[in-house]
Amino acid sequence: MLQDIYRKVVMDHAKYRRNVGVLEGEQVKKVHYKNPTCGDVVTLYVDIDENQVKNVSFEGEGCSISMASTSMMTELIKGTSLTDVSELRHEFEQLIRTGDRVNTGIDLQDAMSLKGVHKLRARHNCALMAWQALDRVLADVQQYKGIKE
Ligand code: ZN
Repeated sequence: MLQDIYRKVVMDHAKYRRNVGVLEGEQVKKVHYKNPTCGDVVTLYVDIDENQVKNVSFEGEGCSISMASTSMMTELIKGTSLTDVSELRHEFEQLIRTGDRVNTGIDLQDAMSLKGVHKLRARHNCALMAWQALDRVLADVQQYKGIKE
């Protein structure tokens, strides 16, 4: 039953992707990233203002897990401070890699519905693609602490 609810959330994000589009402007950072294990592709646009993500959008194609995860990530990081974005990034990696939480005080919102991907090792990169793209696009942003490959 719980599995069904999770699947519904994932399919909803995969079908009705949030924050799809292109961001324009000199200050907008952009990266094109490809998941080598599944062929998923994403172009991520991030607009940083002060120490927070002012706006974020993406364009992409790929499997349901990758597109849902990207959609969920944009909702999580939009309007969020870079310190909190860093915490979300680490907590989500932990959830996917181990199926467990480190800090349950961090609210992963809809992204929690991807917990089951933990058991599907071959799909880890699908769920993590958007966050790996974020690591690249924010690589030179001091306040952001991503995960080094
Ligand atoms: Zn995939």
